[in-house]
Amino acid sequence: MPLTGRCLCGAVSYTSDAEPQSVIYCHCDDCRRVTGSAFNVGVGIPASTFQLSGKTKGYESTNDEGRTKIREFCPECGSQLFTRYPNTIFIKAGTLDHSEDLRPTREIWTEMAVPWSKIPDGLDKFPRSSTWGSSQPGIHCDYSLTWYHGSQQELTKLRIGSSITQSRSVAKAFSHRPSIVSMSDEGESLSDKLRIKHNGVTPGYLYVVSNDIGPDDVYPHPHPANADRWEWLTNRELKLKLIEQTIATDEERLTDEEIAEIRQKQKERGEESFVG
Ligand SMILES: [Zn+2]
Ligand SMILES: [Zn+2]
Repeated sequence: MPLTGRCLCGAVSYTSDAEPQSVIYCHCDDCRRVTGSAFNVGVGIPASTFQLSGKTKGYESTNDEGRTKIREFCPECGSQLFTRYPNTIFIKAGTLDHSEDLRPTREIWTEMAVPWSKIPDGLDKFPRSSTWGSSQPGIHCDYSLTWYHGSQQELTKLRIGSSITQSRSVAKAFSHRPSIVSMSDEGESLSDKLRIKHNGVTPGYLYVVSNDIGPDDVYPHPHPANADRWEWLTNRELKLKLIEQTIATDEERLTDEEIAEIRQKQKERGEESFVG
């Protein structure tokens, strides 16, 4: 399976038909600085298999052990893409199109690792941005009703920690990848009288969950997307069935004024949006 990847803006892309020789977490100071994160994950491949398209800029530096390398990045968007050694290229794993199958092989420069390079247990977890709405615990539901999931991706399985809902219109809204969702809070039931608006524009996919769902399988989203009591998170992998390819209509789209109003309210609550 060939490796492919690109920078954030897409001006630079690359391919290689090699299998990764190594997948390495690097905790060195230079990697931390250049990625702007806790560590770098480098995917080593033979330089001879690497094909680049688009123009990069390179920065050459020498580390404490005297090894010189060139880190190359997109001059348009600044994405760090790979590091060039004479015979080997280390691709920055986050720029790969499909990094989910990587098998990390080792950690290096651990003496420089920061304590927060491991994500501690017990942090609040959000399948999407954490800035969507407020917490509303203590929700009950009829588990036997249909469960829906909206996504940008074509899926057959849903990973643990994904959000599902018993409202078809909520799932549909999420399928358009909105950063803001608003709901009129009139109805008490799951009827689709629920008025939902959002700022998503991209087409998506609407799924139903094929498995039976019980109380052990889901829990209410601690910080739902302004969609209190409609969003639940999954505790196990679930099977999905596609029921609709979704298109965002004008009626469901938030106007610029409505978006400004919601953002203002978020600001007042100290919830600066992390999305878009
Ligand atoms: Zn770019
Ligand atoms: Zn490093």
